[in-house]
Amino acid sequence: MQAFEYRTPRNLQEVHEDLKAFGTDVKLIAGGTALVIMMKQRLLSPTCLISLRSLSRLKGIAQKDGGLQIGTLVTHRELETSALVRRKLPLLAETYHHVATIRVRTMATVGGGLAHADPNQDPPPTLIALGATVKITSASGSRKVPLETFFTDYYETILKPDEILTEIFVPVLKAGSGGAYLKFLPRTADDYGTVTAAAVVTLDRSKKTFKDVRIAMGSVGTTPIRAQEAEAILRGQPVKLEGIREAAEKAKQAVDPISDFRGSAAYKKEMTGVFVRRALQKALENAGKTTEGRQRAPRRKKR
Ligand SMILES: Cc1cc2nc3c(=O)[nH]c(=O)nc-3n(C[C@H](O)[C@H](O)[C@H](O)COP(=O)(O)OP(=O)(O)OC[C@H]3O[C@@H](n4cnc5c(N)ncnc54)[C@H](O)[C@@H]3O)c2cc1C
Repeated sequence: MQAFEYRTPRNLQEVHEDLKAFGTDVKLIAGGTALVIMMKQRLLSPTCLISLRSLSRLKGIAQKDGGLQIGTLVTHRELETSALVRRKLPLLAETYHHVATIRVRTMATVGGGLAHADPNQDPPPTLIALGATVKITSASGSRKVPLETFFTDYYETILKPDEILTEIFVPVLKAGSGGAYLKFLPRTADDYGTVTAAAVVTLDRSKKTFKDVRIAMGSVGTTPIRAQEAEAILRGQPVKLEGIREAAEKAKQAVDPISDFRGSAAYKKEMTGVFVRRALQKALENAGKTTEGRQRAPRRKKR
C-alpha cells in the first residue's frame, strides 16, 4: 500500500473543502471494510484519505416525514439492532442482518456500503423496493435522488469526486403493505448471495387486488436491478398465483448475471424467477394475505 495523507475533518464543510482541494486522488473513508481491502490489493491508490469518523451529524436515525432518515455513518449493526427501525421498518433491519458477519456489520456504514456499489450487496434491492432516496452534498450544494438511479455500473455510482453521501430516506410501508428480502445462499452463511430478491406489495382495502408492487434484485447484473415490467404485470390486478408466476418469469428477462463460482449465468437466471416468486409470496403474507387467495384468519384475542 502506498503512503497517503490522512485528514480528519470535524464537520461537513471541512469535508467539502478537502474534497475540493485534493481532487480525484482523494477517497473518503467511513468503516474502511471495503476501501482498505481495495487499497491492499492496489486496486485503489489514493494519496489522501478523508476520515468521516468525527462527523456526528451523519450518525443518527430519526423518524421524519413518513419515513426514516438515516445518517450515512450509521453502521449496519446499528441499523439491524435499532428499536426504531425494528418497529417502523422491520424489513430493513432484517436485510442488514443478512450482511456478512457481526464483525463486518459493526464497522461497515450505510453510506460506505452504498458508495462501494458492489452489485452483490444485500441492502440495495430492499432499499430500492422500499423507494429510498439519498442525499448527496458538495461545496456547491446538495441534491436528492432515488436510490434506483444511484448505481451506474460495477463499483460505479453517480457520485462526483467532490461529493459525499450524507443521508438516506426510507419511507415506511403504507397501510395494507408487506415486504420481503430473500438471499439465496447455497454456500456459507456469511457469503454474498448467489441471487437476491426484494419485494414490497401494497394491497387494496379488500386485500384482493395489488394496488402497488415494487421488485428489485441483486447479484444478477452490474448494478441492483428494479423489475419494472414484472411489477406492471401485477399492479391493479387480482392477487393470484398465476399472476405472480408470470411476473417472476418477466423478472428473469430483466437480469444479466455472470457465470462465477456461485453458479452459471443460466442457473442464476432461473433462480431469479424462483426467488422473485418467493419474495412476492412472502411479501403478501407479511401484508396479511396468503398466495392461494385466502385471507389469513384473524388471531383470537387472548383471554
Ligand atoms: C469480509 C466481507 C464480507 C462482506 N459480505 C457482505 C455481504 O454479505 N453483503 C453485503 O451487502 N456486503 C458485504 N460486504 C461489503 C460491506 O457491506 C462493505 O464493505 C461495507 O458496506 C462498506 O462500508 P464501509 O463503511 O466500510 O465503507 P468504506 O470501506 O469506508 O468505503 C467504501 C467506499 O465508499 C466510499 N464512501 C464511504 N462513505 C462515503 C460517503 N458517506 N459518501 C461517499 N462515499 C463514501 C469510500 O470512499 C469507498 O469508495 C462484505 C465486506 C467484507 C469485508
